[in-house]
Amino acid sequence: MPPTDRASEQALLQSVAIVVAAGSGERLGAGRPKAFVDLGERPMLAWSLDAVAAAGVPRAVVAIPPGYGAIAEELFAGDDPPAPVEGGFPLGLVFVEGGATRSESVRNALHAAGPDAAAVLVHDAARPMVTPDLFTRTLAALADADAAIAAARVTDTIKEAGADGIVVRTHDRSRLWAIQTPQAFRADVLRRALAAGEDVLAQATDDAWLVERAGGTVRVVESPAANFKVTTPHDLALADSLLC
Ligand code: C5P
Repeated sequence: MPPTDRASEQALLQSVAIVVAAGSGERLGAGRPKAFVDLGERPMLAWSLDAVAAAGVPRAVVAIPPGYGAIAEELFAGDDPPAPVEGGFPLGLVFVEGGATRSESVRNALHAAGPDAAAVLVHDAARPMVTPDLFTRTLAALADADAAIAAARVTDTIKEAGADGIVVRTHDRSRLWAIQTPQAFRADVLRRALAAGEDVLAQATDDAWLVERAGGTVRVVESPAANFKVTTPHDLALADSLLC
């Protein structure tokens, strides 16, 4: 095995995945949390867990809504779960209660992951189209960065407008990226970033921003076009037609 492959293999073995699935998914209007909505006869969460396991990540911690522990255990972790994760997690699959904000959910899951992991892969259950390759590429990009994040090139022209709707500037789109998950972090860097105050955590729409504001190096990793976030019923129908 060449040295770079060996280094990647080692990084994978020392990683843990955090899948945040504790959002309410109100905009989907399905009457239950988004991660538990069916996508091709499996809960949406199952697709992300399959991709994490197929990437070779040995352990996963999933943040779920309060009250969903027994349902998640029955669905994924029983002796004969109805939605088994293909390949499974040799070092364990754990469910923890999420928090009121996404960052709090990440923090709860990181706490449950314990001190052993060298790298953490954070992923939104709301992106079921994620591929195993995107997990391995973000992890590999940590070699020279504190965080490495999946991102899509912006194809629309982006203009900034004031509250009155009048355009104030047009941005150079060749330098713009739409940020997604997975996001890979050196574990110590993520721990320090998440130790920020509640007011800061409440503002964070992604974890990489917390690393940026602390002066860390964040690298973008280009993701496939299909790695979109399921937010509306239209997104769910699109994911269903692509996955099933
Ligand atoms: O709301 P949004 O779709 O941006 O959420 C992104 C991801 O964060 C989803 O997978 C959602 O389940 C998760 N989340 C969470 N805890 C929260 C809010 C969102 O785990 N309190």
